[in-house]
Amino acid sequence: MTSYDANAEGFFGEFGGRFVPPHLEEPMAEVARAWAEAKADPTFLGEYERLLTLYAGRPSVLFPADNLTRHVGGARIYLKREDLNHTGSHKINHCLGEALLAKRMGKKKLIAETGAGQHGVALATAAAYMGLECEIHMGAIDVAKQHPNVVRMEMLGAKVVPVEFGGRSLKEAVDSAFDTYARDFEDVFFGIGSVVGPDPYPSMVREFQSVVGREAREQILSLEGRLPDAAVACVGGGSNAMGLFSGFLDDEGVALYGVEPAGEGVEVPGRHAATMTKGTPGTLHGMATTVLQDESGEPSAVHSIASGLDYPGVGPQHAYLASLGRVTYVTATDDECLDAFSTLSRVEGIIPALESSHAIVHAMKLARELGEDGIVVANLSGRGDKDVDYVAEYLAEHPRS
Ligand SMILES: *Cc1c(COP(=O)(O)O)cnc(C)c1O
Repeated sequence: MTSYDANAEGFFGEFGGRFVPPHLEEPMAEVARAWAEAKADPTFLGEYERLLTLYAGRPSVLFPADNLTRHVGGARIYLKREDLNHTGSHKINHCLGEALLAKRMGKKKLIAETGAGQHGVALATAAAYMGLECEIHMGAIDVAKQHPNVVRMEMLGAKVVPVEFGGRSLKEAVDSAFDTYARDFEDVFFGIGSVVGPDPYPSMVREFQSVVGREAREQILSLEGRLPDAAVACVGGGSNAMGLFSGFLDDEGVALYGVEPAGEGVEVPGRHAATMTKGTPGTLHGMATTVLQDESGEPSAVHSIASGLDYPGVGPQHAYLASLGRVTYVTATDDECLDAFSTLSRVEGIIPALESSHAIVHAMKLARELGEDGIVVANLSGRGDKDVDYVAEYLAEHPRS
């Protein structure tokens, strides 16, 4: 727990809370009670740690990216290699935690929505291992676009439900998954994919991800004998960022940066997802937070080359940390992201996820600013294997100078 945590009602300052329709109040309260008990139970925590070590492959290394450091010419850049986890990203950390809690609650099935399919695959993986059923709701458009992830989920034994109403995309998938859950919550656990949604999910998912920051802090102290000057992570819903930041929140000397997708530019309506930069206070998916929205409160259309980042909201703790000035939120465009993707691939032999490439963009900027005596830790939230076909096609259509 840090000093920036939520109060008993799940509020981080004015953000967070539990804004759900009446029929979801009891299911959410049940999750909150179960989580409060579990996080105080050494047996639960010990079992979770065992899964992280033996199943996910933790700890992930903190890699001194010396080639990248030389290439940039400035502060030493370290990469927290969440891409090396089983299934290739940080998402397995909280999916294992959610599955373990579901099991403890006596649930038989995990249900969730997924956009590009990354959360669905990680949750289906955890469900397979823990012997739980899994049902993933996915917009019909995304089912067609993200075919390999659909196949993966099915191989893992999950049922993929294509959502055919409305825009047939992520927003409708959320509604569809929640409707199904509300009818059947006695046996079902809702597995949210980031530090978003009604209380307790923002705090709970952060706790499951906090292993990233705890490890990174210990690792940098042992490698460098001091804390970094800055820590950087990309922000979609904000789970990998909260994981890394939670290790350093109480170290005031460590500057924290969240990097949002500027897409084609933050001044182009509908073509970015820079929630912290352009959003306003609102309510979305059961939480009070910063939202990209129009005057009537409808969430805006969003875009990023990294599908894991195109969300018009953000975890409430991020909104809170921004209001306190503890974390600085910056942006990176699609083009900057692609440059970082290519640079890291070529100089280090590490193909980063397009999401994580946003963090690399800002890590390189900071390294230049801080100069040779500085140290920057960037979260490499996932591997880029899922993105290589798309990037190759994109670069063929948009040749770079
Ligand atoms: C899903 C995803 C993200 C974005 O989610 P956060 O909750 O903001 O961390 C970032 N990186 C990768 C690799 C992802 O799969």
